[in-house]
Amino acid sequence: MAIDFDDQSGGYPGEDERVIAPTLLRTDDADASLRPQTLNEYIGQEKTKENLSVYIKAARMRGEALDHVLLYGPPGLGKTTLANVIAHEMGVNIRVTSGPLLEKPADLVALLSGLEDREVLFVDEIHRLNASVQEVLYPALEDYRVDIIIGKGPGARVVPLPLKKFTLIGATTRAGQIKKPLRDRLGIPILLELYTADELATIVRRSARILEIPTQDDGAWEIASRSRGTPRVANRILKRVRDFAQAGGDGVITREVADMALGRLDIDKLGLDITDRRMMESIIRNYGGGPVGRETLAATVGEEAVTLEDVCEPYLMQMGFLTRTPRGRCVTEKAYRHLNLPIIRQNAIDNGQLTIDN
Ligand code: ADP
Repeated sequence: MAIDFDDQSGGYPGEDERVIAPTLLRTDDADASLRPQTLNEYIGQEKTKENLSVYIKAARMRGEALDHVLLYGPPGLGKTTLANVIAHEMGVNIRVTSGPLLEKPADLVALLSGLEDREVLFVDEIHRLNASVQEVLYPALEDYRVDIIIGKGPGARVVPLPLKKFTLIGATTRAGQIKKPLRDRLGIPILLELYTADELATIVRRSARILEIPTQDDGAWEIASRSRGTPRVANRILKRVRDFAQAGGDGVITREVADMALGRLDIDKLGLDITDRRMMESIIRNYGGGPVGRETLAATVGEEAVTLEDVCEPYLMQMGFLTRTPRGRCVTEKAYRHLNLPIIRQNAIDNGQLTIDN
């Protein structure tokens, strides 16, 4: 299935109704108040925070800009938040843009030339920067300079325009699509990882405090353990559970209320929703457990390949339900057990003799 890289919606196709969609939905507008401002408030990602605080402290002591940063990992894990935290800790302003918004080299030059000393330019979806814009970025990152071409044809001249020493922070869900020359110039690469249920429970309790939602600890834990390792999903589920708590009781989020609400939202005990389960069932029923290629699978499930790859797969792999092999995706025995399906071996299907293992 073709991926429309010019699609500017920033979301994933068909995600609007998915409570567990880790990408930004229109209903997430209250997120700004939930965003941590400092490294201390930023929960989890401990090693990253430790390293960053050293780099930031050292840059501040030298009075220099922080080296350029690449933040990568699945959507909703806190890349935009961390970029803002870095700027805050550096004590500088941040300008925010995204790859698809920078259509022409001139768009980038206008932004770069407006940056003050040590300021941060955050480029979300940096893998979607087009080639001509990337060309402008290379000397800007390396030598704090852009080359302006004046005139046309043989008489054209290149005039270097010096820039202030700034920090670029690029964010992407797909580090593999970033070309090497750009990757090499982003000196601090940071992989954000899925959060543990403990960390998410802390995030849920913090958000509940800010939004003034009375929440018991086991209620927060129930939400956290079913939020697929993603803070944005945890915050969104918290708000939906609040609706159920208010509509059906005294407004307090208990474990029972959270469990009932999550059941109504079709999110199971491990945080899988209908798309995750459909994907695994499809691999089992149509491809004997795999391997199956991503495009074929996407067509069978009726989802965009990019949604399956960026949204479903990271969590299913972390949970041990799915593996990626060079020949395609395979489900594990754990997936069969979770879906309560008999284990049928692919080689048995190939030999025409179906055997059932459990
Ligand atoms: P990304 O840019 O990776 O898609 P965001 O930075 O927009 O993700 O994070 C989504 C939301 O999740 C934020 O608005 C914030 O409320 C919450 N969040 C993300 N990371 C953390 C964290 N480490 N601690 C607390 N809340 C977080």
